[in-house]
Amino acid sequence: MITEAPKKSIVVLGNGISGITTARLLRKQTEESLTVISEETPYFFSRTALMYVYMGHLQFEHTQPYEADFWKKNKIDLVQKRVIQLDAEKQQLVFEDQSTLHYDRLVLACGSVPNRFGWPGQDLDAVQGLYHKKDLDSLEKWSDTIEEATVVGGGLIGIELVEMLHSRGKKVHFFVRESSFWNTVLPPEESEMINQHILAHGIDLQLETQLGSIEGDASGRVCAVRTSFGNFYRSQFVGLAVGVSPNVDFLKGSGLELGKGILVNRYLETNLPNVYAVGDCAEQREPHPGRRAIEAVWYTGRMMGETLAQTLAGNKTAYQPGPWFNSAKFFDIEYQTYGQVSNAPDAKKEDQFYWQHPLKNCALRLSFHPKTLQLLGGHSLGIRLRHAFFDEWIRKRSSVNEVVKRIDTAFFDPEFSENYSSQIQNAWELKKSKIAFRL
Ligand SMILES: Cc1cc2nc3c(=O)[nH]c(=O)nc-3n(C[C@H](O)[C@H](O)[C@H](O)COP(=O)(O)OP(=O)(O)OC[C@H]3O[C@@H](n4cnc5c(N)ncnc54)[C@H](O)[C@@H]3O)c2cc1C
Repeated sequence: MITEAPKKSIVVLGNGISGITTARLLRKQTEESLTVISEETPYFFSRTALMYVYMGHLQFEHTQPYEADFWKKNKIDLVQKRVIQLDAEKQQLVFEDQSTLHYDRLVLACGSVPNRFGWPGQDLDAVQGLYHKKDLDSLEKWSDTIEEATVVGGGLIGIELVEMLHSRGKKVHFFVRESSFWNTVLPPEESEMINQHILAHGIDLQLETQLGSIEGDASGRVCAVRTSFGNFYRSQFVGLAVGVSPNVDFLKGSGLELGKGILVNRYLETNLPNVYAVGDCAEQREPHPGRRAIEAVWYTGRMMGETLAQTLAGNKTAYQPGPWFNSAKFFDIEYQTYGQVSNAPDAKKEDQFYWQHPLKNCALRLSFHPKTLQLLGGHSLGIRLRHAFFDEWIRKRSSVNEVVKRIDTAFFDPEFSENYSSQIQNAWELKKSKIAFRL
């Protein structure tokens, strides 16, 4: 580990997907000195795989895609320390131990932090989020002494935490503020399918329920929670999964322009010379149409890293995220989404076609322009689709009619996923007859 980088150095703060992608791709194109800093772990690991480590499907080492000597071989210096300040005037970072590191160019890739909303008892032992490796370690530490647990927050990380605890036989109370699971994103049919799936696993799903307070025992560990209505649940563990925010507090006062995140232009440049930001911590000053200013997901972090590596190597490149896509898993149901699929579409701007298997947890929804029939997006539950096909259809603004005709090409090989294209095509014929009068 070094703390003093030679002159003409590029320093990357953060060894997550965005920082590591920047550093790795940059190394292929430049001989400049490269240093990556992270307080969390010595080496890059896949944050999205943390749940599988807890559930025993993987060892933590398997979440690290590069051998330990990869970094030395590629002349990327790693520093495992906490940065407490950016001194932009002196072009240096200040560490917790007051040592400093000079940079010529700096990439801020410092990720997110889990939200907390000041609940009474939120700092008790065994109350935590799931973000960092230390959260996994701490959950592991408490696990043997958990009988009942409460997870607060009906989003993607909340349901992962529920599944993790359930996999070890814990009774789980799942507090979801909304009237149906993730209905701020999922349309009613899909949301209801997931509600039923959660309940079928024996989870105590509490909809329209908010956390009121967390109560501790004499040792300072959580022993119960109360909802905002005063209902009482025994809990020896509380998982707080109420979203994340860009990790920027330590950058305040540095001269960096901050919104919720670090404000960047299309080239991922901040307002400070030679300082860039990528990944969860970056906030686009001018988001691309239909996209959010902050997108805290894995693949956008990687794309920003790929883009910035080009710019830093001398080939100035604008960030072009292309059509939105994401994937997740709700217990056994895989979810993939492409482009725009609204949970409550504006009929003038978006029509939708929905197919659901009569017996299985499988569904497909396609959204399209009501007049032109151009595909706007699509998502699936329980069906594995090929990303490249949807990406191309959305980019080319293909007609939904053509898309349904060719939907079989977007299914994965039958050995991975059953092919429901003929049922989908039949259902589309019905829908088509209903919209024919508009065409
Ligand atoms: C449990 C979980 C599951 C997820 N699942 C999915 C999924 O299925 N699909 C998906 O698209 N996304 C998923 N995400 C989101 C995705 O993992 C993040 O968007 C992505 O990891 C962010 O990458 P990043 O490089 O921007 O930041 P991070 O991965 O957060 O990396 C930032 C690094 O910087 C370090 N750092 C920050 N500040 C300092 C400092 N002051 N000093 C030193 N080091 C510092 C941090 O310790 C951290 O290691 C998931 C996230 C979590 C937590």
